[in-house]
Amino acid sequence: MPDAKGRAAGLDLMRQHALIAGEPVTSETRIAVDDPATGQIIGHVPDLGAADTERAIQAAHDAFPAWSRSDPHKRAAFLRDWARLIDDNAEGLGALMALENGKPFEEARGEVAYANSFIKWFAGEAERLIGETQDSPLGHVILTFREAVGPCAFITPWNFPAAMLTRKLGPALAAGCTAVVKPASQTPFTAIALAELAYQAGLPKGVLSVVTGDAATIGGVLTASPLIRKLSFTGSTPVGRLLAEQCAPTLKRVSMELGGAAPLIVFADADLDLAVAETIRGKFRNSGQTCVCPNRVYVERSVADAYARKLAEAVAQIPVGGAFEPGVKVGPLIEDKAVRKVQDHLALTRAAGGEVLTGGEPHALGGRFFQPTVTLGGDDALFRREETFGPLIPVFAFDSEDEVLDKANDSEFGLASYVFTRDLDRAMHIGRRIEAGMCGVNTGIISTAVAPFGGVKQSGYGREGSIHGIDEYVDIKQVTLALR
Ligand code: ADP
Repeated sequence: MPDAKGRAAGLDLMRQHALIAGEPVTSETRIAVDDPATGQIIGHVPDLGAADTERAIQAAHDAFPAWSRSDPHKRAAFLRDWARLIDDNAEGLGALMALENGKPFEEARGEVAYANSFIKWFAGEAERLIGETQDSPLGHVILTFREAVGPCAFITPWNFPAAMLTRKLGPALAAGCTAVVKPASQTPFTAIALAELAYQAGLPKGVLSVVTGDAATIGGVLTASPLIRKLSFTGSTPVGRLLAEQCAPTLKRVSMELGGAAPLIVFADADLDLAVAETIRGKFRNSGQTCVCPNRVYVERSVADAYARKLAEAVAQIPVGGAFEPGVKVGPLIEDKAVRKVQDHLALTRAAGGEVLTGGEPHALGGRFFQPTVTLGGDDALFRREETFGPLIPVFAFDSEDEVLDKANDSEFGLASYVFTRDLDRAMHIGRRIEAGMCGVNTGIISTAVAPFGGVKQSGYGREGSIHGIDEYVDIKQVTLALR
């Protein structure tokens, strides 16, 4: 899509208000949202505080009885109507997301489809909220019901402004929960546009609110409220820890999808061309700003040079640029400090003896653009501890399966992992032994609406998507019947 047309399509769906119980809300002070490619302000959202957050919570509480008791088939029908409107507006939503996040338009358009796949999947799950019957040893019959947990709070990040929201809202609304959403301040417009479409699709007032403003203030009110029964958070591990702590006094149910430091392991028997292509596919989505992208690549020593050379050659060809330039695959980073983090990780890698094979510098486009970069060697310890969240692939050689498994697991994180080999037995051995919630074998893409997504260790708990995703939003109720 040409730049001017793309901008116009995105701005057309941009609403500069928050939504409380379906009604637009503004405020005197506002938060500016910029286009990461240019740093130019594209619009503002209200800077709402505690009082408006409380209003949104009250609305979710008031709407809960009717929504949770509504016919699940009607909720499924609503979700399908919403999904149809999202499909109808996919170009505009993609353009809006590209504007506020910086990711290439084609990728943003792909995220809209991916985000919508959760709504479609969970529309089906609403129709499958099936209970059980069981004979009890006391001679009774036990019935189980899967009931909505209550009003939910969702705090979402900027890297997937649509998908991280629908992964939560899809199952929540299907189960009969109501919700208050706090989107990331860098990318609030996609969330607001999605909520507007939900109301256009006939969502009853109060079921969904989108509150914009200071994260700590709004997060504090959402987590402290006894009316909110569940928090689902996607973001960094330190903020996740803080929010879990804040949820403890009210014993909320909590799902945490936090940081990762994904290892990608390439054995000498792997198809190296495939491994290179999939490393790139997994790494450079959203310019390397995803919690599942490979953060450290381990290659068996005999092929490490060959793999790294092929990878560097391919990475050097990746087109970098603005969201609406044709063919662009990598955009700017979200903020200046994200660029500094990539530079810090590069400097430490160089200091530890790592060699830069391609990239390594700020991009000629300036601003928040950074060259897609591959390094070979240095110390992997930094990359076990911290995710770079940028377009840097550090490659390290290893000598044995046990050594690489130890290194892969020597991290406080455990979200995604990847292994490339033609040996099925080895793939399964690594797949079962690796400490991660997800493992891709010969692929760099592991997320779909039908796959359980989530981590172990400090990457959090709970699963999104799949047949398990709705369990995060239901309580099991039992009714025991004493019958003749
Ligand atoms: P990132 O580094 O990817 O921005 P964060 O964890 O800082 O990750 O942000 C993820 C989400 O959490 C965003 O919506 C952000 O506004 C929100 N957030 C950040 N700090 C807090 C906080 N103290 N309380 C509640 N939400 C927060």
